[in-house]
Amino acid sequence: MKFETLAIHAGQEPDPNNGAVMTPVYLTSTYMQDGVAKPRQGYEYSRTMNPTRKALQDCLAALEGGNYGLAFASGLAATDTVLRLLNADDHVLAGNDVYGGTFRLFDKVLRRFKLDFTFADTTDPESVAEALTPSTRLVWLETPTNPFLRITDIRAVSEIVHSHENKPLLIVDNTFATPYLQRPLELGADIVVHSMTKYLGGHSDVVGGAVIVKDKELAERLAFLQNAVGAVPGPMDCFLVLRGIKTLPIRMDRHADNAVAIVEFLEEHPKVSKFLYPFHESHPQHKIAQQQMKNGGGIISFIMKQGGGGVESLIEVPAAMTHLSVAGSQLDVDPGLVRLSVGIENKDDLLEDIKQALDKA
Ligand code: PLP
Repeated sequence: MKFETLAIHAGQEPDPNNGAVMTPVYLTSTYMQDGVAKPRQGYEYSRTMNPTRKALQDCLAALEGGNYGLAFASGLAATDTVLRLLNADDHVLAGNDVYGGTFRLFDKVLRRFKLDFTFADTTDPESVAEALTPSTRLVWLETPTNPFLRITDIRAVSEIVHSHENKPLLIVDNTFATPYLQRPLELGADIVVHSMTKYLGGHSDVVGGAVIVKDKELAERLAFLQNAVGAVPGPMDCFLVLRGIKTLPIRMDRHADNAVAIVEFLEEHPKVSKFLYPFHESHPQHKIAQQQMKNGGGIISFIMKQGGGGVESLIEVPAAMTHLSVAGSQLDVDPGLVRLSVGIENKDDLLEDIKQALDKA
């Protein structure tokens, strides 16, 4: 089945008892068993598994071209659980432009548990090769990044990482691209991570995270951690994401159409000194973006001369808002940077609104 069909049907079957086409919200914490230690269809307790979550997990796996999906209570809960694959003294190599909350988790929380982190420019595969150490067990990429929209060549980095003696795991945070635009497992990644809070949920009404893998043994270790750590989403959250995903392809196409129209407007605007959009030829990695992504996505960042994925557009100043947690660190963000998460409203309304705001700036 093609992506658009999987987005609507993968992991979901009409209810065999009554034909309901939408997966029910199974608001249950526990399950009656057919006998002592004889759970029906494997369901015994909803931290371990819940039918609504299972439908979402199977759908996510299908969309990413993986075999196993795991859902979490937030993107950071997913990230935290993946990092628990490691042991004290292991080294993690991460992009120097990862989401501020990811950096905070690595730098302020997990370092205290004796994990060692290095942050490198992953847009240059050579820097990745140089930063690998004999203790490196995990390489963490985000592409495109939030908010600079930097692009890393996933295939090139995967070849470098997998030829290293320790065979570190390559993780890609695919939040901004979504599986509709980019499928990292097909490009050599071992694990894909998502904040489902953004485009997968898509309607700004749910917080969630996901992990998707191909390998059975890795999936078993992660499912063990998912249950042992317990940062699982509730069934209502899973239902909302499942519903959101059904329109993911058409939303992503519309986000990108609107973003391209806004880029065309911004490139002519006298108050904008620089803008960043992965599919624009001025973007330093636009060729790689075009190779590994279906379109340029819905996020544009730009720098004002003097000095924000749901269906609705959002504009924000990362240095003072989403990226305040990295202020003063090596991930510090230019105070003049504006991030625009382009929604699926009417293109002309968006252009008119941006124009009036820039006129006042
Ligand atoms: N990864 C990226 C790229 C993000 O933008 C975010 C949140 O903004 C996260 C991870 C964390 O996800 P959550 O906010 O769902 O914990």
